[in-house]
Amino acid sequence: MHRPGLAAAFASLFLFAAAARAGDRFEKVWCLQYATAPNAPISMLLAGAPADARMDVPFAMCVAKSDQHVVVLDAGYVNPELGKGFGATGWTEYAALLAEIGLRPEQVDFVTISHMHFDHAGGTSRFPKAKFIVQRRELEYAAGALPHNSAAKNAFVAEDVLALVRLNWQDRVLLADGDVEGIVPGVDVYLTPGHTAGTMTVCLDTKKGRVCYSSDAVYTYRNIEEDIPLGLALNAGEAVESFKKIRRVLRGGLLIPGHEPRIFSEPKSLGFRRVSDHAVAIVE
Ligand SMILES: [Zn+2]
Ligand SMILES: [Zn+2]
Repeated sequence: MHRPGLAAAFASLFLFAAAARAGDRFEKVWCLQYATAPNAPISMLLAGAPADARMDVPFAMCVAKSDQHVVVLDAGYVNPELGKGFGATGWTEYAALLAEIGLRPEQVDFVTISHMHFDHAGGTSRFPKAKFIVQRRELEYAAGALPHNSAAKNAFVAEDVLALVRLNWQDRVLLADGDVEGIVPGVDVYLTPGHTAGTMTVCLDTKKGRVCYSSDAVYTYRNIEEDIPLGLALNAGEAVESFKKIRRVLRGGLLIPGHEPRIFSEPKSLGFRRVSDHAVAIVE
């Protein structure tokens, strides 16, 4: 007598679980270019590039949307003066950027902070409802262990670090200890250090398979395809070791590097599609 009821209960539980999994899968992924450093030296990205070789380097963040959540990958910077130090122009406010893909900042549930450099961790104030995901090692390094010399501090800004410490006190930070698969539904994070002490790669479960955003653990496709060390790295050897790990955790999926010009200059050649002034659709 009880068995059919129990079976039905199990069946509905199973269906619920399956529905939850399907809902966690990201239906859409975009990358948004929020500023550009025109004619920047390629040696910034690719160690050993000729001194006179130059290209337009994008500053970008990515956005993933499932039925349940909106996740932003990296928070950019919001003080255009900081970008000017790198010759960046065309900085665009995030509400306008997100509007191009039909979203508002208040809809963002989670923001992953790949590392604490100003161009990835500077815009936390723009996401009023979000929780932030960062590697414990990165926050500890930036908040305390950062050596007091200008080379080590290069591209870190004290205000960004203080803002994240304050968010942590407000219970709005999830600190990842190394590799955490499923830290939030559909999101796996991996410690891929070298560029900074705790640079993190984020992999998403999308309807088109796995998409991993390495941020500056891999500046451009050439870095990882040709094993070219990063132009800027706290520990160059560790950064190249992280290329190996990224290949492994990618599991045949799609990689999005942190400052790859081709994503925005020739999206079609990578299977992507430009959808607005600043947005390129990666999964749609
Ligand atoms: Zn960086
Ligand atoms: Zn960067």
